[in-house]
This record gives sequence, C-alpha cells and structure tokens, in this order.
Amino acid sequence: MMLGEPEFDFEEMRAEMVEHQLKARGITDSNVLAAMGTVPRHEFVQPVDWDEAYEDHPLAIACSQTISQPYIVALMTQMLELSPGNKVLEIGTGCGYQSAVLAELGCEVYSVERHRSLSQLAAKNLEKCGYSVNLKVADGSLGWAENAPYERIIMTCCAPELKEGLIGQLANGGIMVAPVARGDEQILQTVSKSASGEITVKDGIYVVFVPLIGENGYKS
Ligand code: SAH
Repeated sequence: MMLGEPEFDFEEMRAEMVEHQLKARGITDSNVLAAMGTVPRHEFVQPVDWDEAYEDHPLAIACSQTISQPYIVALMTQMLELSPGNKVLEIGTGCGYQSAVLAELGCEVYSVERHRSLSQLAAKNLEKCGYSVNLKVADGSLGWAENAPYERIIMTCCAPELKEGLIGQLANGGIMVAPVARGDEQILQTVSKSASGEITVKDGIYVVFVPLIGENGYKS
C-alpha cells in the first residue's frame, strides 16, 4: 500500500452488497449470488469511484454510458436461468462487468458494443480479472449472426421494441432478457423460446437503461 492511497476492503464491500442489495431484495439464485460475491466490480469502474464501486446505484463510465446497478445485474442474470456452459450473447458490453459475471458463472460469452473505446476498456478490465470473453465492436441491435444461435441473450440497453432478427438468433429452448420501451418508461421483458420454437413474452419490473442505438434500435 502506497502512502496516501485509500484503503478499501473490497471483499467486505462485496459481501455487504450481496447481503443488503441482492439477498435482501429477493435474489435467490445461489450461483448468481456467489458470482457477484466474487467478481471484483471495482476493477470495472474508475479508481476515483472505488469508494462507491459496490453501492446501490449505477456509475458513470466513459462515452456517457454507465455500469448498471448491482441489483439490476443480479436480477437480469437470475432471469436468464443459466447453466454453466450456456452460450450467451450480450448486447452492450460497456465496461465489461456483466460479461464478467456471466463468465464467472461458466458461460461462453459473446458481447457486442458500439463504442470501440468501451469495448477496448472492457477487454482490458476482463483480462486483468482473468475472464475470457468474445468481444466485438458493432451494432448489437443486429445481434452477432456468425455465432448464432445463442442459448441466452441479454440486452443491457433499452430497445424501442423487440425485433424478429434478434429473436431469430435465440436457440430453441432459449431465454432472452431485455429492457423494452413502454410509453415513456422501460420494462424488463423475458422472451422464452420453447423447444419447438414458440415465443412467449413476460413483463418484469420497470427499469432505466441507456438507449439501444442502431439499425433495429433508436436512431442516435
Ligand atoms: N453491460 C454493461 C452496461 C453497459 S451500458 C455493464 O455491465 O455495466 C449499455 C451499453 O450499451 C453502452 O455501453 C452502450 O454504448 C451500448 N450500446 C447501445 N446501443 C448499442 C448497440 N446498438 N450495439 C452495441 N452496444 C450498444
């Protein structure tokens, strides 16, 4: 420890986050709780924000984007009903935190980000923490067709509506979780595809995400 460097007990901060923000609000998937208790979230925010790295709100990263609130990451991850080895597409890599949680859970992760500088930041963060994730700079509103289908898809920015194209990249038996506009608000939706390819859409809680900007999203 260098002189003047603030001292944080990140392990303790993480344990508190899991206890008071996740368990207390009904996150019950023990694998999700363990993963969020393990991934060093502070490595995905700027050192100046380390004191807030495990607090109950989103934080600013580069390019006017955010790292999502821990509870929302946990909730969406739980809604995916993951098993180790699942092939997962994420749309909106940002700083890479959600990707790290998915990788920690043993998933094969593909993540698309439209800002090159954020994708590069995520690559650095993920490497530092020892996670291996497939990253691509592209318009994720079109998915990542070359590696489709995916057993799970998670969108971490808000779509104006869900489009066929993306749902087409979801495998039979797959689950997609995405924030979708509802009037002036946003609602988390779960899209389930049955073994025979039938689609069911379920509404979850209201959320606040940055917009999905792209061909099948908002025009910037
Ligand atoms: N998953 C991140 C949250 C990132 S915020 C986390 O773990 O904290 C949402 C991200 O979606 C932003 O980085 C934004 O640039 C990105 N985004 C918006 N539209 C996109 C698009 N069409 N394709 C890929 N990424 C997009």
